This record gives sequence, structure tokens and C-alpha cells, in this order.
Amino acid sequence: RPPSAAPASDSRTGYVQVRGAREHNLKDVDVDLPRDALVVFTGVSGSGKSSLAFGTLYAEAQRRYFESVAPYARRLIDPAGNPEVDSIDGLPPAVALQQHRGAPTTRSSVGSVTTLSNSLRLLYSRAGTYPANQRHLDSDAFSPNTPAGACPNCHGLGRVYEVTERSLVPDDSLTIRERAIAGWPPAWHGQNLRDILVTLGYDVDRPWRELPKKERDWILFTDEQPTVPVYAGLTPAQTRQALKRKAPPSYMGTFSSARRYVLQSFATTQSALIKKRVSRYMESGECPVCHGKRLRPESLSVTFAGMDYGELSRLPLKRVEAVLRPYAEGTAFSLKKLTREHPEKALVTERIAKDLVARLHVLMGLGLGYLSLERSTPTLSPGELQRLRLATQVRSNLFGVVYVLDEPSAGLHPADTQSLLKALDSLKAAGNSLFVVEHEVDVIRHADWVVDVGPAAGEQGGQVLYSGPLDGLQEVEASQTRRYLFGAEPPRARPPRAPRGWLRMRGVSRNNLHGLDVDFPLGVFTTVTGISGSGKSSLVSQVLVELVSAHLGHEPVEEEEEGEPLERTQVRTTGGRITEGLEGIHRLVRVDQKPIGRTPRSNLATYTGLFDHVRKLFAATPAARTRKYDAGRFSFNVAKGRCETCEGEGFVSVELLFLPSVYAPCPTCHGARYNEKTLEVRFQGKNIAEVLGMTVDAAHAFFAEEPLALRALSVLREVGLGYLRLGQPATELSGGEAQRIKLATELQRPQRGHTLYILDEPTTGLHPADVDKLMAQLDGLVDAGNTVILVEHDMRVVSASDWVIDMGPGAGDEGGHVVATGTPAQVSRAPRSRTAPFLAPG
Ligand code: ADP
Ligand code: ADP
Ligand code: ZN
Ligand code: ZN
Repeated sequence: RPPSAAPASDSRTGYVQVRGAREHNLKDVDVDLPRDALVVFTGVSGSGKSSLAFGTLYAEAQRRYFESVAPYARRLIDPAGNPEVDSIDGLPPAVALQQHRGAPTTRSSVGSVTTLSNSLRLLYSRAGTYPANQRHLDSDAFSPNTPAGACPNCHGLGRVYEVTERSLVPDDSLTIRERAIAGWPPAWHGQNLRDILVTLGYDVDRPWRELPKKERDWILFTDEQPTVPVYAGLTPAQTRQALKRKAPPSYMGTFSSARRYVLQSFATTQSALIKKRVSRYMESGECPVCHGKRLRPESLSVTFAGMDYGELSRLPLKRVEAVLRPYAEGTAFSLKKLTREHPEKALVTERIAKDLVARLHVLMGLGLGYLSLERSTPTLSPGELQRLRLATQVRSNLFGVVYVLDEPSAGLHPADTQSLLKALDSLKAAGNSLFVVEHEVDVIRHADWVVDVGPAAGEQGGQVLYSGPLDGLQEVEASQTRRYLFGAEPPRARPPRAPRGWLRMRGVSRNNLHGLDVDFPLGVFTTVTGISGSGKSSLVSQVLVELVSAHLGHEPVEEEEEGEPLERTQVRTTGGRITEGLEGIHRLVRVDQKPIGRTPRSNLATYTGLFDHVRKLFAATPAARTRKYDAGRFSFNVAKGRCETCEGEGFVSVELLFLPSVYAPCPTCHGARYNEKTLEVRFQGKNIAEVLGMTVDAAHAFFAEEPLALRALSVLREVGLGYLRLGQPATELSGGEAQRIKLATELQRPQRGHTLYILDEPTTGLHPADVDKLMAQLDGLVDAGNTVILVEHDMRVVSASDWVIDMGPGAGDEGGHVVATGTPAQVSRAPRSRTAPFLAPG
């Protein structure tokens, strides 16, 4: 054990003293961490940094907090929540700013997360300009989420939903029989409506667009609901005769126009599926009453600095700051007038404005000045969200707490790292401690104290290799971090590859992109760079993905999202087309950071397909064959094999009064997820639950003789995930881990070339040593004839790419252009590029 990791005495003051930490892979770790300091935890992925920072220190602080506020809840809360540690002394209360894992569940906005909206509403309520004779409003009246504030026409959504001929009949060359009216119900119900139209004398075999407008309008929009005889199975001619003969009909059918059907189903159905289906045939438009501002006319009549609340919410934060600054500084003309007439009102205005401006400065410092208050949080990246929360804390006036952060540099361009460090410094200056898990070398260099965990991942990690001021790390041979901090890593020697062709996009419009022309080289490795908010994701993850998907004939794969389908419908000003190069792309693979599943039922093994192989191996054992257990028996999603108490979840949720509900291990199977009978079957001495509990590394040794399982496991190790357990629930994985699992799943497919791979900041959560592994994989894909495009901030990766597209120059309205494009060496010489100074000159 290196001397620095061993505490000199047992009672160092000013230190948090951890003794015997054994959470996850930690190997009985003793470590002392200074308080009131910036402590950075480093080490390769899976080495145990988070197990120490979050799993031990933060978990223990939480446990003590719960014990103090709700002793009665203790016995209900998952006892596994107690970290495995002998003792921790000197631990202050902790606040965790973690990048969310899994899905954001709340409907919130930049304004609500930062609580800026609260102050602004107060400002409008107390200091707004009211029309003559209007009563004063409460601050509630400026929130679209309260009955006092919500626009009565759209219920505060800002949008209304209608059907149009275009939305109901997407292809007007079809006949009604050919299902021109796509918005109608499917199957029998749709046929029924068609037969009614036949009875009513409409021509269902003429292309829709050739029908007279009056007929089209009636069919789509009428409110009449005639009930008429229906002759199922007869042709139109036979139907006419039957009607003439007054033949007995098959039944009486009631007509409903397409609009009636769609709107009514949307409003009344209990089925999320039907709701989603019919929502496709609706178009949303701005609410004509509030013009999308979501508030009552009364609330919108109140202005501040000449703007109503809705207008202010739409401005980028830095413009809001510019509006408020004169009020904060007491120089605004109207403020002077107010001081004479209503001195108390002037005082309130100035105080609220001062507070808002100070908070806005912190947000702008963290490179978030391009966001608007009304921007909803599900549209933010995890890194942006964490920085929003960080900024909120900087102004919270808390002191004496320890902030535990998870890679705050994620999503941040190196040009903005300095402001991040300033924010961390100001939290420290206010009397707080900071425990930060980080890979970015500039943040590590700024630390007062570095804790390097390693030497490798999982079982091969879990030791504190070094704990002390940065310089000392240089002497620690076992550390992989040391190489990247002190050794100048030579940039890749290989000359950039030459493109095989070009994918040319013209007139791209989305978010802050307005009529942009961009060319992406094919058959090479491209990085798209630029500061946060410059438009990288809009260009790559949105427009490029959509245009290529459209060409390949499938809609961009949209994962099931939570919430009402229409709440997420976004206003999209999409424009743009691909004019050249599409023939070079046969397949599109988007490897993003979205969770691989939203329930603990999906995990690493199920997602990659590995579990199918494993279950077949279990079904083929003699014990399983005697009992006639098939592969399905070994799935925790199928009734016959799983534990009935928890239905295969492994835990049950416990509802607590006043506290969020918590999960506790299942009392029957104790987390095994299977029933006794299933667990009796063993493969090479292990039952199925034990196999799911293995790490990828352990499973790789265990399945050494099983080529199919081995292939999936090898690729997972190659992308640096050897430390994950096979059954690790999707909900416990970080965005970066989810992304690497997707990549591994792709890599185990046979390579045919001509695939376009799109990745959004894949290096998030990766130690430089792991980044090198990832790069080797991506290079392999390019060498196999594919195209790789990355949105990226890691300058080592950018320097090693073949081609760079640098967006900017600024964020939001000040971005949206291609500032420089070329090889990394060429871009390093571009005068206006903020990325150039960080690239090695070629
Ligand atoms: P790092 O933060 O350095 O990437 P972690 O602390 O997340 O590493 O992981 C260290 C080890 O602990 C890994 O082997 C990982 O698989 C394991 N581990 C992480 N989370 C859990 C968990 N919830 N249950 C069991 N093992 C876990
Ligand atoms: P980057 O990827 O470079 O950080 P983005 O493409 O995410 O930049 O953002 C570019 C601009 O578009 C910013 O002003 C951002 O606020 C805006 N923007 C991005 N996504 C959305 C969205 N879903 N809704 C509204 N505005 C968005
Ligand atoms: Zn409205
Ligand atoms: Zn159970």
C-alpha cells in the first residue's frame, strides 16, 4: 500500500476518513480526503471511482440524513442502501449532482429546474406594468401549470391539435378502398366505414384527389352521424341493387367522419397505443388565444420592460440578463420614475433583478446562456442538465456540505472548461467540499487532491493507488491516469484517410441552423466540434439522421418515450435535403446515449442478444431436458420460470409517506428473480441467477467453450465493459455505458461496409485509456468500409480523426455556421475557430 493512501493517524482533522470500504469492487479501502477542497476521483471505467464517491461517501451521507429525518422509515428502506464500509468520520452532509440515469420523468423546463421562473413570476406579479383597471395578479397567474395561469383554450399547452385533409389523407393518389383515409380506424371498423360510404353512394374506387371537394370535406369533417343499411361483402353495384330491392342488410352501420373518430379517440381512449396511433393524424398548431405563450390573456397583459411573460421566457438567458441588468444596477429609466412614485415597488424590483442577474451570470459562465427559460428539460443533454443544477447550487448559499459530481465536463467544449472550474471554485470558496468523478485532464490538473482508483476495472480494480496532491501521482507506476497527465501522448502518426466520396446537404434548417450547406466525407472518420449550443446535435443527431433515414425508407427509430404522445411533439422547422452521396450509404446506425431500456427488465444480456444463447445452454442441460424446461423457462419475463412475488423483477417497491417510494429486495427470491425450481437447474455448476450476477470478464472465462456467447462477450470487453454484470439492469447504466453496449451490439454483427455510424459524444464517462480502446474500434469500422461521424469535445479524439467540421462561432443565435472544415491540421490554423487553439498544429 503506498504511504499516501495509509492515514498517518486516526484523527486527522479537516479530513473525511474512510475505513474499510468494500462497496462493489472496492478492496477494503482506507482513504483520507480533505474537506473544503476540490477532490477529483480518477481511474479507468469500472475501477471503482463511483463506488467510492457515490456508492460509499454519498450513500453514507444519505443514510445518515434519512436516519435523522425519518427514523421510522429506516426499516423500510432497502438495507442494501447501507454502504459496505466499516466507518466514515468527518463526513459533512452531501448533495449529489449526478447525470440522470434512465429517463427524466418530470415535465420541467430550464426555468423550473433553476427556479429562475419563480423569481420572474414574482417580478411580474409585484413589479410588472398592469393595464389600467386590471387587478393585481398573484405570481401563480404567471405559471401555465396552475389553473390561475393556464390559457383556458389550450390548458396551458400552448398548442392546439387539429386534423387537416393532409394529415388524414397523406397519399391522395389512393382510393378509399386502398385506405386513402389513413386516419380511419384499422381492420373491421375501417371496412365498416367504407361500406357505409358505399351505401351512401360515394365512389370508393376513385383516387381520393379526383373526388369533388364537397364530398371529400363531408367524409373527413362532417359532424353528422347517419345510420344506414350495410351490405358487407357486396360490390358497389350489387349494393345499389340491394338497396333498390330493399334487401335485408347485413347490419345497420353508423358513420363517423375521420375528424370525429381521431379527435374522439384521442380524447377518450385509455390505450396509449391507440392514442399514439391517432396522434399521427393530427397536426398541432399554435394556440390562437395565447399564441403559444400558454398563459391567460389577463396574465399576458402584464408586462415588464415592455415584454409579457411569454416573450421573456423565449429569450436566450443572456438576453434576459441584458434586459434585467439596468434594473439590477438601478440605472433603468423606468426604475427612476418608479422610485419617485412607488419607492417600495422600486426597491422590490431592484432586489429581485439583482438576484436574477447574479444567477444568470453563473449560468452564462457555464456556457448555458443560449438556453431559454421555456426550454423543456427532456430536450437537454445530461451534461447541460447537470450544469444547470450546478449553477443553481452556486447561488444557493449552502455551506459546509459536500457536493458529489459526476463528470461535470460532459458536453463542454474545452474553451468553456475554465468557467466550469470557476463555478467549482466558488462553491469551494463558500465553504463547501467537492468530490468530483472526472476524466478531463484540465479538471484533474485543477484539483487540490487526486484520488486515483485502479489499477484496472472490476475485480482488477478497487484499490486506491494514490491519494494526495496531483504532483505525487507522477511517481505511481501502477496508475493509468499518470500517463495522460504527465507523459505527452504523441498524436497519432497516421496521415488522415482520403474520403471515398461526399454526402452533400443543402439548405439545412433546424433550431439555430438557417439554410446551412454542409458536406460530410464518406469512408472516413469525421468529428463535428464546437462549443455547447453551437448546433452540432441539431446538424448531426437531428437533421442528418432524419434525412438519411428518410432515404433508406424507414423513419428514424423512435424509442418509446414516456408521457403523453402530443406533449413531446415539437415545433420543428426542418428544411434541407441531401443532393449527393446517398448511394454510398446502405445502412444507418445511430449509437446514442439514450437508455437501452427503461425498466429493470432489460439489461446488458437481454439487449445484446447474449441472453438468448445463455438460456439455450441452460435448456440443453440434462436436468432441464428431464423436466422439459425450454429456453423460455429461463427468462425472468415469463411466468413459468420467474419468482411470482416480484414477477421477475428481483425487488418490490415500497411506498413511503412523504418520501419517494423505494425499492427493496424481493422477500421471496431475495433478488434472484427466479423460482426455486428454475434455480435447481445448473450449467457447469451455476444456476441462471448466478450467471446473471457474473461480470462480463468472469462470464468470458466461464463460457470459454461456447463460441456464440463468447463472441458477444469479447466485443463487450473490447469496448471496455468487462466490469459490468450481465444482469445489470438498464436503469443502473450510465448514458456512456448504454452507448457502448449499443456499439458492442453493432460490432458483433458481420461487417458489410457502407454503413453510416453516428455517435454523440461517445467519450463521456471514459478514461483516456478507454478512449484509446474506443478509437481502435471506430478505426476498425472505417477500415471495413464504413463511415463514422462523431459529435465530440475530446481534443485527442478530434486530433486523431480524418476530418473536422467545426460549428460556431458562438452558441444559439450566435452559432449555427460551419466555422472551419478540413483535416485536423487545417482546422488548427482556422482564425475564427474556438476549437483551433486546442488542436495540435499540423
Ligand atoms: P467507475 O466509477 O470507476 O467507472 P464503478 O464504481 O461504477 O466504476 O464500478 C466499479 C465496479 O463495481 C465494477 O466492477 C462495476 O461493475 C461494479 N458495480 C457498479 N455498480 C454496481 C451495482 N449497483 N451492483 C453491483 N456491482 C456494481
Ligand atoms: P450543440 O449540440 O452544439 O450543443 P444544439 O444543436 O444542441 O447544439 O443546439 C443548438 C441551438 O438549438 C441552441 O440554441 C439550442 O438551445 C437549440 N436547440 C437544440 N435542441 C433544441 C430543441 N429540442 N428544442 C429547442 N431548441 C433546441
Ligand atoms: Zn392557449
Ligand atoms: Zn422475487
